[in-house]
Amino acid sequence: MTQELGTFAALGLHPNVLAAISAVGYEEPSPIQAQSIPVILAGHDMIGQAQTGTGKTAAFALPILSRIDPAKREPQALILAPTRELALQVATAFETYAKQMPGLNVVAVYGGAPMGPQLKALRQGAQVIVATPGRLCDHLRRDEKLLATVQQLVLDEADEMLKLGFMDDLEVIFEALPESRQSVLFSATLPPSIRSIAERHLRNPQHVKIAAKTQTVARIEQAHLMVHADQKTGAVLRLLEVEEFDALIAFVRTKQATLDLASALEAKGYKAAALNGDIAQNQRERVIESLKDGRLDIVVATDVAARGIDVPRITHVFNVDMPYDPESYVHRIGRTGRAGRDGRALLLVTPRERRMLQVIERVTGQKVAEVRLPNAQQVLDARIKKLTASLTPLVAEAEASHGELLDRLISDIGCSPRALASALLRKATNGQALNLADVEREQPLVPSSQPRERRERDGERSERGEYRERRAPVPLAEGRVRCRTALGTRDGIAAKNLLGAILNEGGIAREAIGRIQIRETFSLVELPEEGLDRLLGKLKDTRVAGKQLKLRRYRED
Ligand code: AMP
Repeated sequence: MTQELGTFAALGLHPNVLAAISAVGYEEPSPIQAQSIPVILAGHDMIGQAQTGTGKTAAFALPILSRIDPAKREPQALILAPTRELALQVATAFETYAKQMPGLNVVAVYGGAPMGPQLKALRQGAQVIVATPGRLCDHLRRDEKLLATVQQLVLDEADEMLKLGFMDDLEVIFEALPESRQSVLFSATLPPSIRSIAERHLRNPQHVKIAAKTQTVARIEQAHLMVHADQKTGAVLRLLEVEEFDALIAFVRTKQATLDLASALEAKGYKAAALNGDIAQNQRERVIESLKDGRLDIVVATDVAARGIDVPRITHVFNVDMPYDPESYVHRIGRTGRAGRDGRALLLVTPRERRMLQVIERVTGQKVAEVRLPNAQQVLDARIKKLTASLTPLVAEAEASHGELLDRLISDIGCSPRALASALLRKATNGQALNLADVEREQPLVPSSQPRERRERDGERSERGEYRERRAPVPLAEGRVRCRTALGTRDGIAAKNLLGAILNEGGIAREAIGRIQIRETFSLVELPEEGLDRLLGKLKDTRVAGKQLKLRRYRED
């Protein structure tokens, strides 16, 4: 059994933060969250040893937001991150968790973009600054009082920051911060250089670390597949075609993900159901009974809901979302290989989560082999194999009952036996693709094992739905700039809502607005550079789908 982690509410977070967590669908705190949140809320300094994938961002973001006073329009929290990409991801996470905190603003400060707009956002009273050290020092040179009101500091991925040579910059930043601040340091490793920073700049820090006991996993064949977050459903569907499973349990992180994946599977004809903490206990028991007796073959579950499931039919465990720690991984895959049978466990790993995979391998003392997504030929072979298996028992006896009818149809229709059998096959398989060209056509996925160029052509999306434009994929028209809002499909907005709001409240012509891109957690819109500040000013209080639009210029270089 994994440990009971309790609820977010019991940790003492602010009600507005709790409301936002419940909207994103997290069911319970991850181990690093359960341990860090009370320490940070109590105002202690802390050293947290955790890597990406453990839920570490929320582990500091939730208590920090709970302690911020949105009415005070001055910097109250500073998060330092090693890279622009991480800074943007952390800023997006803060915006998500602050959705129910009116007046709370987050500014991301990083290099490679003009200083002016960042400075302006800082001066306009953003309470949370997420910054890379180098750029923050540039700002400090212009305004040495910039950090005078900061009460909470987080160094995220501190070991990476030192590897990138930010030591001197960090010292400058420490100097500019009030002595009375709280300091929290997160790092995957604790080399002497990090310990020395902690000794000099943290006061009696509490250590939080997730115990990694060695675990044994017998009789379970393990594999992993590298995949991008937005390709997971497609990857699961394709894997299911070739994996020979009896019953399967798929683990995801949120309630919404259980519902989404279960309905995608049902739509493909699998007997699948969702299992999450919102489903009443008696209904949950019914789902498990159905899995036992074969009325269901796949259950898509969160860790909370899957606790204690013991179904001998389970031959496969799919870890669609990464578990928070190795212990939970071992617990999850222990759902298969029951009663001395062999089991198979597959883990989907996004590029950012590679490190977590290594930790799992180290703790379990086993290599988790890499597999590739099945190609069209393998999918086709698997389909034909299934079809052969389902037809073989019929051919022995169906001729007696249907042979005469077949002769009659051949003569009535006036076709060859091959033509008629083909028509019957198409009908019996509901038009499923059963030749190579058709199977290839139905697989739009670009597996992450394919060359970079191909994936990058259209830009990539990271786990949080952030759009990573390694090369500007869509060149901007002359005189236009891209602007960003933290509202996306998750907030129920579509391009037309955004367009309508900008036209109505901004009072500009339709032609002046360029491409609009709506993503899950944010959206981008191209607007004219000339008069941009005025336009953004007019849109300052605009609401879309009941939420504040907060459109900002988006720097992408
Ligand atoms: P991180 O380790 O901060 O990079 O987080 C990894 C992923 O876990 C992110 O996509 C988060 O949205 C997600 N996450 C963090 N905490 C929870 C939680 N308590 N329940 C479900 N998902 C979570």
